[in-house]
Amino acid sequence: MFRNCGGSQQSPVDIDTEDALKSAFLKPLEFHGYDRPLRNAVILNNGHTVLIKAERNSDPPFIKGGGLDGKYTFRQLHFHWGSSNDKGSEHRIDGKSYPGELHIVHEKNGETGDLAVVAVFLEISKRKNLDLEPIITSLPKVSVPGPVVPIKKSFQLAKMLPKDAKHYYRYVGSLTTPPCTEGVTWTILATPVRIGEHQLKAFRRLRASSGSKHFLSDNFRLPQELHQRIILESIIPKARGVSDKQKSTTSSQM
Ligand SMILES: [Zn+2]
Repeated sequence: MFRNCGGSQQSPVDIDTEDALKSAFLKPLEFHGYDRPLRNAVILNNGHTVLIKAERNSDPPFIKGGGLDGKYTFRQLHFHWGSSNDKGSEHRIDGKSYPGELHIVHEKNGETGDLAVVAVFLEISKRKNLDLEPIITSLPKVSVPGPVVPIKKSFQLAKMLPKDAKHYYRYVGSLTTPPCTEGVTWTILATPVRIGEHQLKAFRRLRASSGSKHFLSDNFRLPQELHQRIILESIIPKARGVSDKQKSTTSSQM
């Protein structure tokens, strides 16, 4: 059994924005190599989610800054989604679920198992999001678990991020699937990325196993107790309620 899954630092959580502690320590995350095409990117359906991985080369994308302790290298990204638009995300904001959530998983350089995950909410839009097309067009090839399929179109991690990645929530939690290992540093971006309704339907057509009529959807874990944890929120310079000093700094940069 997975004892960790009953631990006191589990993920996901429902983020109460009133309770989040604004922190000047949380500078913007730095996304390095995110704008270069991922080298030899492949996509696979593992029966639980759709996963994108890249060749472990000598110059992989990484994140640093944003209150992180060192450099964390990109390992994989995957999705959580619902069978209907009112559910799908793992994290919630003030009780609200999004129809999907994307997890970009990074591992600390030289320290196996020290993970930092960047979570991006997916929000429905009428028009399709062209940035997601390299993934969407690959989905029919991984409709059942098994094959590892190259992503033909050039694929950049930067396209998976919202324009504003500076506003985020930070807490320490766990993997959301067994073994539910704790000590994962979570960064939840406040701004969602759009996904076309038809694009989301392409995810809902995936199957959890070959020969099964069971569609792979609702692959999210429910919010876990926060216990003693505090959720931090990055301070955004242009937001309401900033001090006059911060305002003048911001305007001088504009
Ligand atoms: Zn996940």
